[in-house]
Amino acid sequence: MHRPNSAEPSRRSLLRGGLGLGAAATAGLAADLWPAASARAATPAAARAATAVDYPSATWAPASTANYTASNRPSSYPIQMVVIHVTQETFADTISLFQDPAHAAAAHYVVRSADGAIDQCVREHDIAWHAGNWDYNTRSIGIEHEGWVDQPSYFTTAMYHSSAALTAAICDKYGIPKDRAHIIGHVQVPGTDHTDPGPNWDWVRYIRLVNGV
Ligand SMILES: [Zn+2]
Repeated sequence: MHRPNSAEPSRRSLLRGGLGLGAAATAGLAADLWPAASARAATPAAARAATAVDYPSATWAPASTANYTASNRPSSYPIQMVVIHVTQETFADTISLFQDPAHAAAAHYVVRSADGAIDQCVREHDIAWHAGNWDYNTRSIGIEHEGWVDQPSYFTTAMYHSSAALTAAICDKYGIPKDRAHIIGHVQVPGTDHTDPGPNWDWVRYIRLVNGV
């Protein structure tokens, strides 16, 4: 995850966050994210928003505009890296947190563990606050993966394949080399005390998939 100047959220801070979100998140939005999303898609506004994704198979689930910086990349800043994260939250709670204007963080994409479904929360031309480092944020795309660094069962084959296809498309679009110097973990961002994606993330497998081998 990606609170700009703090550690990866501890379970205690997650609990506080969950309580802070209140009944709406736990009872409604979070538990019923997908039915709610399809209901919203029937409205004209959501239909327009649905066309805003940069990756065709992603679902548009916009973050609060308070959680990123509007920009016009790659004119304003080159896009040179993909940063891999693990949420330390459920998929639905992550989307809810990104929609909370007080969260002060969001990533461009969130990948769901069970089936590899992808939500886009911030447009690629905008600067998402995900790496906790302004310079890295300006030059990267952030992808969150549903799960916990110490629970490898969340890193499913569906998630690896779906995320790798997304990263491959981003690399092709912006001319980013498909290697570990340019596809990095949050843990590799200078100044961070975050550990994601952690030792259970299979980098060899992931980079192979990004390269289509
Ligand atoms: Zn992270």
